[in-house]
Amino acid sequence: MRRIYLDNAATTAVLPEVLEVMLPYFTKVYGNASSIHAPGREAKRALENARRQVAKALGAAIPQEIYFTAGGSESDNWAIKGVALAHGKGHIITTAIEHHAVLHTCQWLEKQGFAVTYLPVDAYGQVTAAQVEAALRPDTILVSVMAANNEIGTLEPVAEIGALCRARQVIFHTDAVQAVGAVPLDVQAMHIDLLSLSGHKLHGPKGVGALYIRKGVKLIPLLHGGAQERGFRAGTENLPGIVGLGKAVEIAHAHLEENASRMTALRQQLLTGLMARVPDTRLNGHPTQRLPGNVNLSFAKVEGEALLLRLDLMGVAGSSGSACTSGTLDPSHVLLALGLSEAEANGALRLTLGTDTTAEDIDAVLDILPPIVADLRRLVTR
Ligand SMILES: *Cc1c(COP(=O)(O)O)cnc(C)c1O
Repeated sequence: MRRIYLDNAATTAVLPEVLEVMLPYFTKVYGNASSIHAPGREAKRALENARRQVAKALGAAIPQEIYFTAGGSESDNWAIKGVALAHGKGHIITTAIEHHAVLHTCQWLEKQGFAVTYLPVDAYGQVTAAQVEAALRPDTILVSVMAANNEIGTLEPVAEIGALCRARQVIFHTDAVQAVGAVPLDVQAMHIDLLSLSGHKLHGPKGVGALYIRKGVKLIPLLHGGAQERGFRAGTENLPGIVGLGKAVEIAHAHLEENASRMTALRQQLLTGLMARVPDTRLNGHPTQRLPGNVNLSFAKVEGEALLLRLDLMGVAGSSGSACTSGTLDPSHVLLALGLSEAEANGALRLTLGTDTTAEDIDAVLDILPPIVADLRRLVTR
């Protein structure tokens, strides 16, 4: 059976070129980057090369503003807890549609005595800089707004929010895990103070990520121990992962425009094809200001989980607008924040393209999906 993977927002395949540069760091260049001998120095050189690759793609002023972590979740936790605990008290502004790595971190901080405002979003999933401005308080220490949403693909106005925060001297963090390598980003032009990214969402390895920390931003370390990452993130560096992350970011950045235009065209082919073939279908998220590879649809009278299982039987991997926790469907907090009903949220299907998705993949899904929806609807009405 032909397998079609359209769940690239969950994770992506490692590019062969990325795997190739990683391999020597398991068996040949295995020195500890903190050691002073030749193998250690060689590891250190690879570490600093990866740091330069990431810094360049983000437009950082200096490579030392890049800190390697174990992924997007750690970067989000570090950015938010690091700033909050450095201040000791204060107010944080975020949005209702953030990834759980941001939302659950903010909820934990509320239990520690911090105040948090969760901004609502419009029907497309966007917040405005004016909303952020209206929520600012004299004790606001941090604003955290994602660059692109992982479920609906909606892009947020990070440049406007960054400019506002800089003018008001409030630290601005953005979870750019879905955006890096997919849409243009420049931490200096956009006045971003802290930015989270992750390797496995951009055709790099899992379990490695980075946090951009603008020079001068005060935050405390989360991990204490050795002096790695200039004393800010203890633990022997995941060198193969970091080398892979650097290469994946470099490749994504070099091919950003061509990938974005090809994937946008494929996404539109998938979207218009499904809208034409399946009645009572609505697009979730913004029609144009969205990630190139994201399609999120609600099919009336269809359970997303049932649809996913049927698609899986036909070799198509997607994702739904709900998570199954102990036998009951938990509709997505993102779709509910857009104003969807629980039934609409439970009928959502997310199909996300990678840079390796082909026109044949899309054609196959256009053949496979419509009859499954029709069949599921027949079962409901019988
Ligand atoms: C995947 C994701 C994360 C978490 O990244 P991990 O590397 O899996 O920990 C955080 N934020 C967003 C928007 C994501 O898509």
